[in-house]
Amino acid sequence: MSEEIKHQLKNALEQQREIFGDELFEQVDIPDLTVNESNTVYKTTDDTKHQTRAIVSETTDLFNSDLASYKTLDELYENIHDCQKCSLGATRTKFVFGVGNPNADLMLIGEAPGADEDKQGIPFVGRAGKLLTDILKAINFEREEVYIANILKCRPPNNRDPLPSEREVCKPYLYRQIELIKPKIILCLGKVASNVMLNNNDSLTKMRNTVHELNGIKLMVTYHPAALLRNPHWKRGTWEDVQKVRKLYDELTSN
Ligand code: URA
Repeated sequence: MSEEIKHQLKNALEQQREIFGDELFEQVDIPDLTVNESNTVYKTTDDTKHQTRAIVSETTDLFNSDLASYKTLDELYENIHDCQKCSLGATRTKFVFGVGNPNADLMLIGEAPGADEDKQGIPFVGRAGKLLTDILKAINFEREEVYIANILKCRPPNNRDPLPSEREVCKPYLYRQIELIKPKIILCLGKVASNVMLNNNDSLTKMRNTVHELNGIKLMVTYHPAALLRNPHWKRGTWEDVQKVRKLYDELTSN
C-alpha cells in the first residue's frame, strides 16, 4: 500500500473515531435499558423544549467524596496539585487545575492538557485553546466569564487518550470543582470528556443533540476544538451546538 493511501486511510479512521469512538470496530452488546454496567440508572424525562436524560444514581458518590472538606477552589488546588495517584504525576511539567470565573454559570470540560498546557499549567492555551476562545467570543462570552477544566489534570505522554484508570482517579477532583463552582450548564468538548461525564460510551453524534442532566446541572456536548482544526467541516455543527448553549444559558440566568 502506498504511503499516500496509508495516510488517507489513517485520517479517515481518525475522523470516524472522533465521532463514533470504537463502536464501529467493536462488537456491541445490546445494553440493558434501565441499568448500565456500572449500575448507573437512567431516567428518561419528556420535556417539550429539550430532550433530557438525567443520570440519577452513581454520580452522587463522586459528588460526596472526601474532597468535600475543601471549601474553596484555592484550598482544593493546594491539597491536590502534588498528586501522584497515577503515573502521569511523574511525567507532567505542571498540574493543570482549571482556569476562569469561580462563580461561572457555564463550565467547559475538555479531555486533558496538551504540550502547551503542560508547560503553562493553564487549560486550552495552545492552538485548540485559541479556537475555543474564538468560539466563546462568537456566542458573546469572554474566556474570563466561564470556567475551563479538563477530565485529566496532567498531560498523557504524546497526547494519547486518557486511560480508564487515569480517568477514574482524576474524576473526583473535577467533580469537587463542579460542586464548588455550581455552574448551571456544563459543555463537554469531544467524545472522551462527554463519555466520562455521562458515564457511557455513546457516539458524539448520539450525545450532541440532547440536553443531558448531571445532578441538576444541564450538560451539553459538542466537538473538541482540536478536532475542528483537523476537520473544519464540523464547525457548522459546533456553531449550532454553541448557539443552543447560549440560548439555554440566557434562559437559565435571566432573572
Ligand atoms: N485539549 C484539551 O482537551 N484540553 C486542553 O487543555 C488542551 C487541549
